[in-house]
Parts: sequence; structure tokens; C-alpha cells
Amino acid sequence: MTLLELTDVTAFYGPVQVLEGISLSVPDGGAVGILGANGAGKTTTLRAISGTVRAGGSIVFDGKDIRGSRPDQAAALGIAHVPEGRGTLGELTVRENLRVGAYLRKDRKAIQTDIDYCLDLFPQLQDRIRSNSSALSGGEQQMLAIARAYMARPRLLLLDEASLGLAPSTAKDVYQAIKRLRVESGIAMVVVEQNANLAFTLVDSATVLETGRNVITGSSAELKGMDEIRRAYLGG
Ligand code: ATP
Repeated sequence: MTLLELTDVTAFYGPVQVLEGISLSVPDGGAVGILGANGAGKTTTLRAISGTVRAGGSIVFDGKDIRGSRPDQAAALGIAHVPEGRGTLGELTVRENLRVGAYLRKDRKAIQTDIDYCLDLFPQLQDRIRSNSSALSGGEQQMLAIARAYMARPRLLLLDEASLGLAPSTAKDVYQAIKRLRVESGIAMVVVEQNANLAFTLVDSATVLETGRNVITGSSAELKGMDEIRRAYLGG
């Protein structure tokens, strides 16, 4: 079953059109990558899905056209967005951030179970549970942002540049945890990632954007085999 389908999605910042007709199809439980150079429209595509930018075209989630939904409506439908730059609440502790992630839920016992799961997924956070998130390292903040998004128990997770600014070994750890989360939770994912090598460890398929359009879409295996993808995104 298809969980999310974007057809001919457009978006503008003021008079400037930055998405010129994007297509994207995410199966339920699937993981799809969005690759492309700076400014290609990757972040804006995620914003269109989560309702943080106004879009044209069609965005169908779980059979409903959600284009034009507000961010809180998209969240209530099960779409969680982890923006670039993380966006944890620095004045709150790790535990408080995780609770905020679950703010729409009433199932107190399950919330505690899910906090325990997040701490198992990201053991570094266990040691920092009472720290303000502003005191965490970049890698820990990224882990917290992902864990906080999971606490909403979404059906779809939008991840924007989860590896940005992290040491290579930390980035690898973060992706290992995301992969585990995917397998264990079945949450579908749309993953924007500069580091295509990392992205391909997680996603089943990907699309490459260039100036607001899809230029290549295919399975991870197909894309990894293409010379132009290797040259542009895989370091040779
Ligand atoms: P990056 O990796 O740099 O974030 P991206 O592929 O995610 O690149 P977007 O962030 O979606 O690209 O940006 C697409 C275009 O829209 C770029 O030309 C960018 O400069 C422009 N843009 C992004 N945000 C705004 C904004 N708030 N106001 C005006 N223009 C914007």
C-alpha cells in the first residue's frame, strides 16, 4: 500500500518558485531518500509534506489529500518532521523533550515504555536524561530530535540531514539507530541526506532533485550503479 504520494507538487517563497512539480511515492513502512545539491528543493519538499510551507499539486497521505493542512493537523495525522538543525527545546531536559514529543498521547504507560525504548535505542541519552538539551553534543541533540519525533508514534518520519555536522562515526551510529527503529517500528521514512552513502544504508529507493524537479528516481541498487550518481554523490 502507498502511504504517501506527491504528484506535481509546487512551492514558492514569495515570488520565487522553488518546487516545479515534484513526485514522490512512499510505500507503507518504506524508506525513500531525497538527494540533490544545495538549494535543489529537498528541505522544501519535506516542508510541503508537513504543512510548514504552502504547496500546490497533490499530497495524499493514507488516502486523504492533506495539501494545505497546517503543521499541527499533519502531526495529528501521524507525520513527524525532524528539521535540519534538530530543533530540540534547549531549555527542557532530555526527559522533558521526550514527553513533549508525546503531547498528543494519553496512554501514560505506553509513553513510559516508549521513553525506555528511546533510551535503549540511543543509550547516550540515558546518561543525559536530566540535562538540558542545549548542553548536549550535536550528535546527542540529533538523537534526541529523532527520539522526540518517535514519541509521537508517527506513521511517517521526515528526516532532514540527520548526519549534518556530525563526526563520521557519530553519523554512522545515528543511521544504525534509525535503521533499527525502521525495522522494529515499521514507521515509513522520507530521508533528505547530503551523504548519499549513508542514505543508501537506510533507504530502499531515492529521487534526485535538481532545481525543484525530479531528475532521476530509482531503487537504491539502481542508483548506486549509475555513473552520474557515483560521481556526484558517492565520491567517485
Ligand atoms: P539545502 O541542502 O541547502 O537545504 P535544499 O535542497 O534542501 O538545500 P531548499 O532548502 O528546499 O533546498 O531550498 C530551495 C530553494 O529555496 C533555494 O534556492 C533556497 O535558497 C530557497 N529558500 C529556502 N528557504 C527559503 C526562504 N525561507 N525564503 C526564500 N527562499 C528560500
